[in-house]
Formats: sequence, C-alpha cells, structure tokens
Amino acid sequence: MIAVLKEGTTPQQRENLCEWFKSMGLEVNVSEGKYHCIIGLIGNTSEIDTGLLESLSIIESVTRISDPFKKANRKFHSENTVVDICGRKIGGGNFEIIAGPCAVESEEQLTSIAKSVKASGAGLLRGGAFKPRTSPYDFQGMHKEGIDLLLKAKKETGLPIVTEIMNFNDIELFEEVDVLQIGARNMQNFELLKEVGKTNKPILLKRGLANTLKELLMSAEYIMASGNENVILCERGIRTIETYTRNTLDLSAVPALHELSHLPVVVDPSHSTGISRLVGSMAAASAAAGADGLIIEVHNNPECALCDGAQSLTPEQFDAVAKTVRKIREAMS
Ligand code: PEP
Ligand code: MN
Repeated sequence: MIAVLKEGTTPQQRENLCEWFKSMGLEVNVSEGKYHCIIGLIGNTSEIDTGLLESLSIIESVTRISDPFKKANRKFHSENTVVDICGRKIGGGNFEIIAGPCAVESEEQLTSIAKSVKASGAGLLRGGAFKPRTSPYDFQGMHKEGIDLLLKAKKETGLPIVTEIMNFNDIELFEEVDVLQIGARNMQNFELLKEVGKTNKPILLKRGLANTLKELLMSAEYIMASGNENVILCERGIRTIETYTRNTLDLSAVPALHELSHLPVVVDPSHSTGISRLVGSMAAASAAAGADGLIIEVHNNPECALCDGAQSLTPEQFDAVAKTVRKIREAMS
C-alpha cells in the first residue's frame, strides 16, 4: 500500500503516522520528494481502512497495490484447489454437474428427478429446502422435511446433496448435508459466512446479484479466515440493464476468477438466464470458458414447479445438455 502525504505535512505528523503503521506490524518505507512524501507499507495491510486513512488531514491519497483477499488469492497459492465431496471432485481439471429441482416439493418429485439426473451423468443432487423468495407469500420450502427427503434421495441414488442454508440457527438440520449453499442474497451476510467457515463442509458460495468479483472473493475470504478452505465459487448472473433474461451471465467471471483465485468456479446457467431454452447454450459456453462445474435446475414437470419452473429443464432436456457439455469437455482436453 502506498500513502502520499500532503504538501506541508510536518516531520512530527509524519513520524506519528509512521509509528502508527509500525504498531500494526507493517514495514514502513519513507521516500521524500520535492513536494510530497510517499510512504510505502509492506506487510498485511488488509486491516487498514483506506477510507479512514484518506480522511486524515495530512493524506493526499492512498493506493492499494495488493489485493485485500489473501487466502483465496492465487498469488499466495498457485495450485488449483480441488474440493472433494464424497469422492466427487470439483476444481483442478475435475468437473461435476450439480442438478436437481429449485425446491424440494415431494418425495415422488425429488426421487424421480434424482434418478434421472444421475442417469444423465450428474454427480451431485441439488434441491432447496429453505427458499429465499422475493415474496413472503410464495412457497418458502419444506424446511426439515425437505432435508429429510434430500437425505432419502441421497440414500437411494448415492448422489451427495447440495442445499441452501439461510439461517445458522438451522445448522443442526444440515448435519448430513454434503455441501452448504450460500445463496446470492446472503453472499454478504458476514455473520453467516463466519459461521459456515467454522464447519468442515464444502461451501458453494453464489455471487450476489450486484456484487463484483472482488466482493465475491472477500466473502470467500470470510469463510476461509474462519478455518474452512473448501469453498466453491458460483457465478449465477448479475443485475444489468438487460431485462429480457432474469440476470446477465457474466461468463468472463470464469477466467477472471481463475486468474485471481485458486478456488473452483462453477456456473449456474439456470438463475443467470431464467429461461430454460437458453440454459443449454450457456452451460456449453461455461464449460468452454473453463468452468469447473455447473449447477442446473431440473424438474420432472416444470409447468407445475412451485419455484423457478420457467428456467427448469425437463429430465430429457437435461440429458441432452449433459451430453453436449461432455462433448465440449472432451474437445477441450
Ligand atoms: C437457488 O439456487 O435456488 C437460488 C435461490 O439461487 P440464487 O441464490 O443464486 O438466486
Ligand atoms: Mn431456483
């Protein structure tokens, strides 16, 4: 980090500032220019509030030259992280498709979808038991009963399960869940991130609707700083001026996140488009862009789905998409 002092800063003011930086364990390099004095700071500057520093009367400007995320940063961990979920690996060349309904609705619905997505090559089963809905009057999920059904489907198919946790008070219900999903709306629920960071379960962290990649990585950092390094990043589309699609898939997030971080990146073409007929193309494009996996919504009867029917693939459509994605992966290898 570099801090430029204002012209006219007294030696005593400069000294006080340098002592303050040193008290934070930082190495301080002072270089005197004709008009300005520049202070270079080396060490962990992540705890420095740049806004606060800039507000000091003697500071002209503050520039961060290193990223505030450390544990998630590729600079400090060049090897790709591989997240292992009951033997299913995501990251570092390993690719998995997570598929299933938006929401768990009934035993028949979930079992039938689980069996068909498994037959089509999905490696993990998704299904929401706690649903973050825009309207309080919409279906909110089956809660404990939904998790019980997911566990039953896991027993029948052997597919590990991925489901969203919205409130850490419910953690006991998630004891046998394989991957905890942090939904887009909770990406910056820092207390929740800290709590899931204390568990040893893999976390699927979805990008917030209006969050930058660096903010996504800072949220991953929260989980990792609490001790859990098994984080999978998920690009699920962001809000833009476009309204034709539910969100806009930021496909460049895949190579950009790979550049910035060693964590695996999966893409959700369902929530990013909101339109089932666009899901296949975006799934294929995601695989071509180097995604480490996909999370796709599948429903046995999309017209009657209690949640996100318009973006859900039928099992037959999912089968075709999975085949295309496999071909793209083969062509790339
Ligand atoms: C979901 O996966 O069903 C979901 C609600 O996703 P998101 O948080 O990305 O909207
Ligand atoms: Mn959904």
